[in-house]
Amino acid sequence: MKQFKLWINGKWEDTLGGKKMQIENPATGDLIAEVIDSSPEDVNKAVQAAHNAFYDGRWSRLTPGEKANCIWKLAELLSERTEEFAKAESENTGKPYKNLSLVGDIPFAVDNLKFFAGAARETQGSRSGEFFPGYTSLFRREPVGVVGQITPWNYPILMAVWKLGPALAAGCTVVLKPAPGTPITTLMLAELSGQAGFPEGVINIVTGGNETGQTIVDHPSVRMVSLTGSTETGKKIMRSAANTLKRVHLELGGKAPLLVFEEADLELLAAKATLGATCNTGQDCTAATRVYVQKSQLKRATEALVESMRSVKIGLPFDDASEMGPLISKIQRERVSGFVERAKQSGAKILTGGGIPKSFDRGYFFEPTVIAETSQNAEIVQNEVFGPVLTILPFEKEENAIAFANDVNYGLASSIWTNDLSRAMRVSQRLEFGTVWINDHLPLASEAPHGGFKQSGFGKDLSAESMGDYLITKHIMIGGV
Ligand code: NAD
Repeated sequence: MKQFKLWINGKWEDTLGGKKMQIENPATGDLIAEVIDSSPEDVNKAVQAAHNAFYDGRWSRLTPGEKANCIWKLAELLSERTEEFAKAESENTGKPYKNLSLVGDIPFAVDNLKFFAGAARETQGSRSGEFFPGYTSLFRREPVGVVGQITPWNYPILMAVWKLGPALAAGCTVVLKPAPGTPITTLMLAELSGQAGFPEGVINIVTGGNETGQTIVDHPSVRMVSLTGSTETGKKIMRSAANTLKRVHLELGGKAPLLVFEEADLELLAAKATLGATCNTGQDCTAATRVYVQKSQLKRATEALVESMRSVKIGLPFDDASEMGPLISKIQRERVSGFVERAKQSGAKILTGGGIPKSFDRGYFFEPTVIAETSQNAEIVQNEVFGPVLTILPFEKEENAIAFANDVNYGLASSIWTNDLSRAMRVSQRLEFGTVWINDHLPLASEAPHGGFKQSGFGKDLSAESMGDYLITKHIMIGGV
């Protein structure tokens, strides 16, 4: 079984009084690694390392080009080791190796890092000028300082890179805590950062559970906390951050609607909605979850979706044919099946799936599930399930579709299915979601901002915009000019 220590000040460090945590492979239930459940002293040591690295300027005072070189080198090292990282990610999460980790998560993480290497060279303020007689003003954009970053378990390496990229490009130093069950690729990335030439203390990784996260949030030397996680955790962190008035950056839950109008291409919808609902076993904050179909097409759309969801190949992560792996844990499977059972009990109809596939006696597999005859205010429609579960509801008019789509607490992602361009533009303007896809669902790009409206949080990941969240504008006013 692999053993990992903590990555602090550019080297592996043992714990100061913390415990051990065992890491499981969700496809088999086997234990695959042992990591440290950090103590408050470990967190303090990591924050101190990041603090020293920030204030002695060993990172923030490097030229943009020097910073960019380190980030680019990290991308190259990760790219060279794509297979090794993809294997580790699939082993730790159960994701299909060939169809997801190898072609999706790791190459996208490399691309994200390369984007932020470029972005590191463009941090300066946009204006200088004379706004008052005899004075010249300069607007500088400066890094926030030590940033605490906290990631979830669904895309461990991607979420780590989405956090690290903009913070490092902005000149911040970091203490990052991965989710308790999926720390392996983040720890592997930490070691690569040493080889990439990052100065000691710029990147620090502590492992542990929610308490470790809370210790980071409460630490007075941490100037900002960036979380990707559930809305409940976001609320807790925001409350705690008030004590030290930290900046918070929150990428939280989602409950994406798909608005299917009568002119939509239903074959395309079925294929893309299925991918949107089953990619990463539906454990995706932008996952396709609520399908609303214009009444005249309800029957045809439902048949197409059911057939397509039934055809998804569930399998072990290292079976090349696998399109969908297990859920992340026993607890998560209980949560997903609890939602489905309660929907059933309240009168909804399960059109396909709804249970554990018969061919798996180990691991936390769950069938792709389609639920109909539910209602807009039902729990299964309103709350984030985080599993391969779609609901289908009908609507009469465009106006009703928009109202249904916006009638949840979340606002992360949505999609519109139509070949009517005017309708696509009209509806997209009225949807309260950070991303609106037209005739697709799921793709993201390093250049495009990703983040929520409403209780899906605020602040952006990806894109040059995300870097702005890690910078503070300073006005320097020169008199006697
Ligand atoms: P979670 O909120 O349970 O945990 C996320 C992280 O927060 C973990 O590292 C956890 O240890 C830590 N944490 C929990 N309580 C804390 C506290 N009080 N103080 C500090 N840290 C704390 O979420 P999860 O179950 O790991 O991940 C799934 C959630 O993440 C879903 O809601 C999903 O929608 C969301 N998510 C959002 C995005 C996005 O971009 N918006 C992307 C991926 C996942």
